[in-house]
Amino acid sequence: MPNMSLKKVPIPEQDPQIRNRNFAEVAFGYTPEMAMEEATRCLQCKHKPCVAGCPVRVRIPEFIEKVAAGDFEQAYHIITSTNFLPAVCGRVCPQETQCEQVCVRAIKGESVAIGRLERFVADWYMENRKPRLEKAPAKNKKVAIVGSGPAGLTCASDLAQLGYDVTIFEAFHVPGGVLMYGIPEFRLPKVIVQEEIDNLRKLGVKIETNMVIGKILTLDELHDMGFEAIFIGTGAGLPSFMKIPGENLNGVYSSNEFLTRINLMKAYKFPEWDTPIKVGKRVAVVGGGNVAMDAARSAKRLGAEEVYIVYRRSEAELPARLEEVHHAQEEGIIFKLLTNPVEILGNEQGWVTGLACVEMELGEPDSSGRRRPIEKKDSRFELPMDTVIIAIGQSPNPLIKMTTPGLETQKWGGIVVDESTMATSKSGVYAGGDAVTGAATVILAMGAGKTAAEAIDTYLTSGVNPVSPEDEACVLGSQKEEY
Ligand code: FAD
Ligand code: SF4
Repeated sequence: MPNMSLKKVPIPEQDPQIRNRNFAEVAFGYTPEMAMEEATRCLQCKHKPCVAGCPVRVRIPEFIEKVAAGDFEQAYHIITSTNFLPAVCGRVCPQETQCEQVCVRAIKGESVAIGRLERFVADWYMENRKPRLEKAPAKNKKVAIVGSGPAGLTCASDLAQLGYDVTIFEAFHVPGGVLMYGIPEFRLPKVIVQEEIDNLRKLGVKIETNMVIGKILTLDELHDMGFEAIFIGTGAGLPSFMKIPGENLNGVYSSNEFLTRINLMKAYKFPEWDTPIKVGKRVAVVGGGNVAMDAARSAKRLGAEEVYIVYRRSEAELPARLEEVHHAQEEGIIFKLLTNPVEILGNEQGWVTGLACVEMELGEPDSSGRRRPIEKKDSRFELPMDTVIIAIGQSPNPLIKMTTPGLETQKWGGIVVDESTMATSKSGVYAGGDAVTGAATVILAMGAGKTAAEAIDTYLTSGVNPVSPEDEACVLGSQKEEY
């Protein structure tokens, strides 16, 4: 008989007033007893809507059944048969708009806590078992992966297991993409990502860091070096700005720079680590997505007294995950909604002193489906600020496009691919993740890496290049704004 409680088993968390001063993980995770209790809420539905709601089709009821029975090891193998990064996805996937949104238990009460259970199983396995590394016999064919975010890591893992000789080329000095440089430690501890990367190395994948493809080597040069197929998973790391006066003042950061300094260069450990970061008493973060929440919560942890989210629409349109908004509110982040900055104010020395804004109201929905913000007449006001962080969206860096003749991209920079194979307009070159879709999610990037690995295997086995966008135009994604 299933447990018919309408609520998920709560997950223990750090107290908001303590955690907003440290970078340790917010949620502690389920104990085995909690996980088994939550797992008994699953109805084992025959039509499995939750599986259809998962972009990589994790066999959700099957793994949950094993958790309920206390067989965590088997649960892990079920999850990892389709998901290469369960400890990451269990923490950062937007389950509330995917598997959990369509869970039958959500019709009346809360859904089964699928994400928390996935995280529990992955953490349990990391603590108690060694990963099983299974590899097909070597195929003596070289594949290059450009970029080591979730798209590149997944593609590399699948190809290495099929026996390919895989090398990842990563521009930064540390692999992992946004999982390492963007998402803060308090949401995704870096040891978890590091463990997955170590496992990849044990599979024989080589990782060349400090390799900016398009600058140090071009795609054509990689091809000449014997790489018979190339996957581009370079993400969307080029920050957008508002193009308002004052954006070049000292004390203005792009969210990218701000979070990279904190996460990758451990600025919160300065001077023990040698990257400093200056955060004043009053900080404004412009934007309403996950990136904005991460920047605001990080600024609070670095000692800022008042941290504002400045967003031009209302709470209902905030693009960030509900959980992140809730955590930010608990930690004392102040939400200035229906507010649009028009100028960043500064002093004679060139430092930020404030943010001039106007009030907004919502009109009819625009092309994004969200209600269009409209400026209220004569509503300008000023907020004193020491630091302004711009988190309004990112797009793909044009470097690879600029150095790769024949690689077709959209106007805003997204690489054009055939959706069923992720083949680009250039023979033997595939692409996926944010580089194709614009800023999206970890799980979608992983799904693209998987699709590309399958297609690369078919290409290198059969020698036939799959349908390319030249034959059948397919344009994925669009430029997204977090604002
Ligand atoms: P990335 O993770 O961006 O990795 C691309 C890699 O390619 C980087 O390491 C980069 O250095 C490297 N690279 C770029 N150019 C070159 C080059 N020329 N040569 C070599 N290497 C290159 N998604 C969620 O699902 N949940 C969340 O909670 C969430 N929070 C987020 C918070 C932040 C702060 C950010 C920035 C994003 C967040 N996302 C979240 C989005 C998610 O992280 C991305 O959609 C995902 O990481 C995209 O994966 P990717 O592999 O395509 O690219
Ligand atoms: Fe279990 Fe919910 Fe999936 Fe049904 S929809 S099988 S209750 S997780």
